[in-house]
Amino acid sequence: MYDVAIIGGGPGGYAAALYAHNFGLKVAMVEKDRVGGTCLLRGCIPAKTWLEAAGVFTTVQNSGDFGVQSGPPSFDWGQGLARKNRVVDQLVNGLSGLLKNRKVDVIEGFGRLNGPGKVVVDTADGQQELEASNVIIATGSVPQTIPGYEFDGEKILSSDHALDWGASPGRVAIIGAGAIGCEFASLLVDLGNEVHLFEMMDQIVPGSEPQAARALERQLQERGATIRTGVTVGAPERRDDIVVVPFGEESVEVDTVLVAVGRAPHTGDMGLDTAKIELDRGFIVVDPETGQTAEPGVFAVGDIVAGTPQLAHAGFAEGISVISFIGTGEAHPVNYRTVPLVVYTHPELASVGLTEAEALDLGYEVDTTAKTMAGVGRAIIRGEAQGIVKLVVEKDGPILGASVVGPDAGELIHELMLAVGWEALPAEAAAFVHAHPTLSEAVGEALMAASGRPLH
Ligand SMILES: Cc1cc2nc3c(=O)[nH]c(=O)nc-3n(C[C@H](O)[C@H](O)[C@H](O)COP(=O)(O)OP(=O)(O)OC[C@H]3O[C@@H](n4cnc5c(N)ncnc54)[C@H](O)[C@@H]3O)c2cc1C
Repeated sequence: MYDVAIIGGGPGGYAAALYAHNFGLKVAMVEKDRVGGTCLLRGCIPAKTWLEAAGVFTTVQNSGDFGVQSGPPSFDWGQGLARKNRVVDQLVNGLSGLLKNRKVDVIEGFGRLNGPGKVVVDTADGQQELEASNVIIATGSVPQTIPGYEFDGEKILSSDHALDWGASPGRVAIIGAGAIGCEFASLLVDLGNEVHLFEMMDQIVPGSEPQAARALERQLQERGATIRTGVTVGAPERRDDIVVVPFGEESVEVDTVLVAVGRAPHTGDMGLDTAKIELDRGFIVVDPETGQTAEPGVFAVGDIVAGTPQLAHAGFAEGISVISFIGTGEAHPVNYRTVPLVVYTHPELASVGLTEAEALDLGYEVDTTAKTMAGVGRAIIRGEAQGIVKLVVEKDGPILGASVVGPDAGELIHELMLAVGWEALPAEAAAFVHAHPTLSEAVGEALMAASGRPLH
């Protein structure tokens, strides 16, 4: 008998499994693949490893500007893939060791709910039944596509396929300019591929601050990506080795199509009907305070949860929140307003809290401040002095949200995460001295400007 049985060993599931040791809980975690989930095997980690390779390529390409002379670089896709696999293996092995140290029983197989408190697992050695006081469903999500663009793993790809490129995909059309589509556009264009990025909404990274999205779009375009927003693609046409992607009266010819239009819930054939579990378009509905489904003792965390961000760190936070509830009997809800979003393009786009439009929709009266990276010494030293810091502040009140586009924006956003989380007034946050010369000075300058007393 376990205290907790978890179905799914991705960030939501493994965070719950690891955190449970703080409360002395006995845990089983069922995983049909290697542990780590989408994030370690097919998401965050492999994607960022490819982006890092593209970053190194760009650094070498531009090194002459710094006085470092080398020949024009070439990219070895096989070596890039091998390094990606090494990074993934290292992290998966590390996680396996950690789970073992924490005495989590990792059971390899396909798990299925069999009524409250019961999980049946199809393992290589037959069926195994687990009993647990609490069950956490953490089965994540899978890539989805649109009609006409059924994945074939050769010409029409999902991000799962694209992360395993061992040779250049040639000319690529990317359908969908959310975080995943933009990251692939960035790395491919940096590695010298022809890139056509299509987005149905009127901006890339839909939902983000439009000014920030435009700043990123401009930089991707300057590097050679063709970006079309407000455009719906039609069904593709295959001609020998070529795919023709139509849109309106026009079309483009490419060698490969990558579909990045979102991720569907991973709930099929999992016995969810054996308990009182409510679904919303396939995602599991939970109580936002506790993560519990309508069935007492059955919880859900991570991408499978309805209406919460599909992000690894949101999954970690939900796993921690559910275990804290199970361990203490008290709710420890996740504060989603302070969960940052980072798009790891070059440059990065990062945001936290409310955009200007969201704040206005919620009825706030707001002031906004936008400072560019153009005068920031460290950004100029790095040869990357493009980007912005935008702050959304309640009139005569605290900082409600922030967006940063620029080098290391994904790191810079965390100072603003604290400011938003602690509901700091701009003057309170601006009172701290930022080291010189750092990229963080861009944040400091924006805070000073938002407090009404700009420096530069
Ligand atoms: C290309 C890409 C890049 C990304 N980059 C980032 C990023 O930079 N930062 C970020 O925060 N997020 C990123 N994400 C999103 C992130 O990967 C997900 O939000 C995160 O992995 C969700 O965690 P999860 O635990 O809910 O589900 P998953 O990671 O999907 O894990 C679910 C696990 O459950 C297992 N499973 C499913 N059904 C069963 C079953 N019946 N029995 C046993 N096991 C089962 C699966 O095999 C899987 O291992 C990215 C995603 C992609 C695709």
